[in-house]
Amino acid sequence: MSSTIASNGKATASTNGTHHRDNSHADLRVDQSFASDVFTERVMQQRLPKEVFKRLQRTIMHGEPLEAGLADVVSAAMKEWALERGATHYTHWFQPLTGLTAEKHDAFFTPDASGGGMSEFTGSALVQGEPDASSFPSGGIRATFEARGYTAWDCTSPVFINRDAGTATLCIPTAFVSWTGEALDHKTPLLRSMEALSEQAVRILRIFGTDSGVTRVIATAGPEQEYFLIDRSHYVEREDLVASDRTLFGAKPPKGQQLEDHYFGSIPTRVLGFMSEVERELYRLGVPVKTRHNEVAPGQFELAPIYETANIACDHQMLTMETLKRVAGRHGMHCIVHEKPFAGINGSGKHLNWSMTTNTGVNLLDPRDDTHTNMQFLVFLVAVIRAVDTYPEVLRMSVASAANDFRLGANEAPPAIMSVFLGDMLSDIIGQLETGNPKSTIKGGKLDLGARTLPQIPRHTGDRNRTSPFAFTGNKFEFRAVGSSGAVAWPATVLNTIVSESIDYVATQLEKELGKNPTEAKMIAGVKKVLQQIVKQHKRVIFDGDGYTKEWHEDAAKRGLPNFRESVAAIQQLGLKKNIELFKKYRVLTKVEVESREHIYLEKYIKQVQIEADTAAIMARTAILPASLRYQTELAEVVAATEAADVDASEVRQQLEEYADLVVKLRNSIKLLEATLEHEGGDVNHHAEHMRDKVRPAMVELRNAADALEIRVPKDLWPLPTYREMLMLK
Ligand code: ADP
Ligand code: MG
Repeated sequence: MSSTIASNGKATASTNGTHHRDNSHADLRVDQSFASDVFTERVMQQRLPKEVFKRLQRTIMHGEPLEAGLADVVSAAMKEWALERGATHYTHWFQPLTGLTAEKHDAFFTPDASGGGMSEFTGSALVQGEPDASSFPSGGIRATFEARGYTAWDCTSPVFINRDAGTATLCIPTAFVSWTGEALDHKTPLLRSMEALSEQAVRILRIFGTDSGVTRVIATAGPEQEYFLIDRSHYVEREDLVASDRTLFGAKPPKGQQLEDHYFGSIPTRVLGFMSEVERELYRLGVPVKTRHNEVAPGQFELAPIYETANIACDHQMLTMETLKRVAGRHGMHCIVHEKPFAGINGSGKHLNWSMTTNTGVNLLDPRDDTHTNMQFLVFLVAVIRAVDTYPEVLRMSVASAANDFRLGANEAPPAIMSVFLGDMLSDIIGQLETGNPKSTIKGGKLDLGARTLPQIPRHTGDRNRTSPFAFTGNKFEFRAVGSSGAVAWPATVLNTIVSESIDYVATQLEKELGKNPTEAKMIAGVKKVLQQIVKQHKRVIFDGDGYTKEWHEDAAKRGLPNFRESVAAIQQLGLKKNIELFKKYRVLTKVEVESREHIYLEKYIKQVQIEADTAAIMARTAILPASLRYQTELAEVVAATEAADVDASEVRQQLEEYADLVVKLRNSIKLLEATLEHEGGDVNHHAEHMRDKVRPAMVELRNAADALEIRVPKDLWPLPTYREMLMLK
């Protein structure tokens, strides 16, 4: 099916990490001619007057402001196209800080007083909307400033038609900001960070003289999505799944049960049917999904797209999660994108593959063949390494959530220590850079930064080290700490920003060192010198070993690498002075925006834990405890009947006594949890810490008590579908 994705020469991509050369293309958007529900470039070209098309192109390509007159012509063409395709409504589609997407539909058709109607969709309706901002999180921004917010068209991400329940809606990807200009969403800072990255990266290209035809550098992203599928009938019977997308109770299934052969195993027919429908829908929406396979855990699967320009990839990632959920329902299943739906079973992540590509199609993290580009590759590589070592706190924070706490560091996902994996060959080269005189590659070839012809740095030397949070994988970095349910726009924004700062630093050093028009010799010496200094300072962040081991945690502490094991502390790092300065300097977020985000993330943590804790308490009180007591009655009746029959009842009596103890434990732990929930709240930091330190441990205790009962209570009395049942999707 993937062969039908027409990349029409605009984007060539490799998802499996094999050879990858981008040809000349200005935009990494995969333009699928068959994807009829996307207002693609091709459609625009067909439907817009030539001059308007050209001007819109310039706006999209070079970020030139959109003129009002232009918007009217574009909106008219868009409306005509959408009506032809059966759309009745349009909406601005945006990503508020809830981590979900938001939309508010307006009809194209406005009834007039005489029983008729007219279609309304003007240029201004296209470029700007005014949703009621008050119901979205703002972290206090609105209280201090303005109550209203507005949405603004991101014309670099294609407009599409969403179909559900028999209706079609034209969706316009937008940014969401307050009237005073503060970002209230994930997209605005992402776009700003892409600008910053482009500006800085182009400076390096200028230094190397490889900037011919380059007007910008584009951040690229390819987010892989892991998810679980369970039977919908089980889902609706579990209040915990319905409320929080994860199970709050559930005894582990018997060990080894179908666990071994699931990974890359053959896909169950029912799931295959689901997957291909998901893919069809996503193609139609312009999302270039490419691979699908079973994952490690039973009932777990993965889907990966071809990478795209970062903001488009982030929009498409949101559509992917929504489509997975929607289509699963049609197949009698429920799709779970939560990071840890089942305790004791591997959770789900979302590897965020990331790189930088010029508008002329050169992947800047692809080691290439001649001296200049090879040096240039090392400069970018070292800049990324420096970025991770300089800003580990905010990088860690970018993947923090109540849900991701169950994965990071739990020996199924990388630890919370931010380190960089390079693989033997690149690590060796970095080691040589440190000596100031890099000569050879490990595989026998020579790496002489001065030679005219250079043995190339072999591609794909990076092995697969699943234990590293941030791995170089041949021609891109793979940020593996990202959780499966989160919006990738924020981690992408953070990456873009910290790398911008780092490239800025390197470029400044190089410019100082090289002066104007350096000779080749001076150039090489200068690059060596600058890289040597950076490597010396930041090599501590490079780690190729097993990130799951205790030794690494000790070693990392000695190296001075921070380890924020859980989310509250990680989130509290966002407002560090260095981070505020970073975001301010690259015009990604103002101080107010940074602080509001920290607040929102903490609030979200509190709410998530609160919902889960309330749900756990209710389920325990109204379902698990009553069922457990019923069985206690049965046991007591057995004891009484046995004694009445004058038979030795000591064994059953002992069983009853032991069992009754477990029920007491359950009752006590319900009370304990309820008591911790009676907290006043107060300051958001204290409240979050209370949820972490008191409520979560109480939930664990309650769960243990309930799970101990689950394996004793007869099947016909137990009120919840069990792990055994839920994970056995066939
Ligand atoms: P793996 O199993 O190694 O993770 P996959 O094929 O599952 O490999 O996923 C690789 C992902 O990396 C794909 O989503 C792909 O589009 C993405 N990718 C490849 N090259 C780049 C790049 N230059 N920039 C961003 N993402 C990329
Ligand atoms: Mg991967």
